Amino acid sequence: MTLNFGRVAYAYDRTRYHPPEVSGRIATAIIAPVEDRFREPVFLELGVGTGRVGVPIIARGHKFVGVDVSPAMLEVMRYKIAGVARKVRLVEADARSLPFAKDSFHAVIGVHLWHLIPDWQRALLEALRVLAPGGMLYEGWDVSTGPSEDWNIQERWRELLAEMGYELKRGAHTRRLDEVERALEQLGLEPQTQAVAEWVEERTPRQTMEILEERLYSYTWQVPPEVFRPSIERLWAWVQETYPDLDQPYPIPWKFMLRSTRLP
Ligand code: SAM
Repeated sequence: MTLNFGRVAYAYDRTRYHPPEVSGRIATAIIAPVEDRFREPVFLELGVGTGRVGVPIIARGHKFVGVDVSPAMLEVMRYKIAGVARKVRLVEADARSLPFAKDSFHAVIGVHLWHLIPDWQRALLEALRVLAPGGMLYEGWDVSTGPSEDWNIQERWRELLAEMGYELKRGAHTRRLDEVERALEQLGLEPQTQAVAEWVEERTPRQTMEILEERLYSYTWQVPPEVFRPSIERLWAWVQETYPDLDQPYPIPWKFMLRSTRLP
């Protein structure tokens, strides 16, 4: 089973915003090593979503194929690339069973994806199958790099849920990244991780609450509605007591991490 992003597609970019210069840096980090080796590289992004990472690659004129299981996420991306979509194909498909021939792509990209696929090994093998010799596998993720009010509010929610007898599970993404790294190493590959961009986002307590309340983060989907609603009411009460001005922005420091693996 895969999680369904259809409900959050139109709000997704609000939760994971990249400033334009950050998008540019990520695109450069992905494109440059591929251009070094291949004259007209073709990029594939798995779980392309709304095109946060893909659109800047497309904007530089590259051939690009985006795959996602969610038609709603692809639809948001289609709006963004209207007019520049000449070299682009968006395909509704599952990363575990790709409708492409062996060696079709010079780079395969997956950002915030592996933890959403329980049998991720299948998707990883598919990614490696469609990648040409010498091609690059890229895995990317955003990570907040320091304490923030956003984190404090989410932590308070976790505590309130615990008081109500519900254990909120977080950290699936990091654990999965470790598993994938080990799998790549066992295949004799040498993944290299680097931070390719840093930025500071401004978010208000009200925005943090809206993102939680609308369940935009997939880790919140596990909480059953009968627990979710009262827990959020209690969290609102705490937030209103704790933050005198709900619209006063606070900073969240972010980094974008890119793990790059070159095929022999
Ligand atoms: N990569 C985009 C980004 O970073 O903005 C979107 C990330 S979003 C957290 C995960 C995306 O992966 C969603 O659009 C979801 O529909 C898609 N997805 C989940 N499981 C998938 C699968 N098995 N095959 C293809 N796409 C999948």
